[in-house]
Amino acid sequence: MKYLLTGGAGFVGSHLSELLLDEGHEVLVLDDLSTGAIENIRHLRENPRYRLTVDTIFNAPLAAELIDQADVVFHLAASVGVFQIVESPVRTIETNIRGTEIVLNNAAKKGKPVLVTSTSEVYGKASKVPFSEEDDCVLGPSSKGRWAYAASKLVDEFLALSYFKEKKLPTIVVRLFNTVGPRQTGRYGMVLPRFVRQALDGGPITVFGDGKQSRCFGFVGDVVRALAALTREPRAYGQVFNVGNDREITIEDLAKLVRDRANPTARIEFVPYDRAYEAGFEDMRRRVPDLSRIRALIGYRPTLGIEQIVDAVVAHERACA
Ligand code: UDP
Repeated sequence: MKYLLTGGAGFVGSHLSELLLDEGHEVLVLDDLSTGAIENIRHLRENPRYRLTVDTIFNAPLAAELIDQADVVFHLAASVGVFQIVESPVRTIETNIRGTEIVLNNAAKKGKPVLVTSTSEVYGKASKVPFSEEDDCVLGPSSKGRWAYAASKLVDEFLALSYFKEKKLPTIVVRLFNTVGPRQTGRYGMVLPRFVRQALDGGPITVFGDGKQSRCFGFVGDVVRALAALTREPRAYGQVFNVGNDREITIEDLAKLVRDRANPTARIEFVPYDRAYEAGFEDMRRRVPDLSRIRALIGYRPTLGIEQIVDAVVAHERACA
């Protein structure tokens, strides 16, 4: 099979490329290397079944040409990271909405299946945990920049599901819950690579807010296996799936875990949200996926717990230093 990965040089895309190549498939990647990086995929470029095209998803004729060559499309190209969303909201909204429009529009012309990656951010401030796919999405007002990301991803979801319904295009939507693992950069705000780097550099480890907010961290290896499996399950099309791990940990406990495993002498420092992001920043207190839908359909079970993930990230960061 030939797969097209938009945003394939990013963190998730590089792991998915690796999996697909290991399975013997061909992988085409379209990436503008804005947040993706050559270091993520350097080891794949020697493979004759791998082809990287460096360009933006806004180049519609090129996207059309690559979609035409592929059997299945993973649409991963998107703005990522809370820092980027707060600093470049126009780019975030345009990349997420226009990029997805171009992919779906061209995939529909050729009837190519598309998996669209969305985010657990779409659940927003919903207070009923765990979050299941049919729950309400509770977003804040448009005056608060953070919500632009969730809103743009929700538009992507509506588009994907509408293409399925109206144009009979096989589409799948996945909502990723804090995917982590080796090669993820902390540059755009992601907490685990930041904590690990801070600990290895001698600290302090910066916990934003009171640290009592919690997240569930999904190992990238588990996540990419789930994405590939979904595209091979005909009943997955036309549906939305949570993907991640359902074990919850507070950010303060994550900081302690990283400290204990990476550098017990590193100090933990609490930084108010206003200073970390921008005035009026709203964070989510809890975010836990209900994984019953994906478990029932493809038997999905996360394999790595947070301790093993932290160890893998620490080992990777040590090797890069
Ligand atoms: N966070 C933190 N310190 C950091 C970066 C992030 O305490 O250096 C917090 C952030 O405020 C949030 C959680 O860690 O509560 C997860 O942040 P991330 O940006 O990784 O993902 P999010 O779940 O917010 O999309």
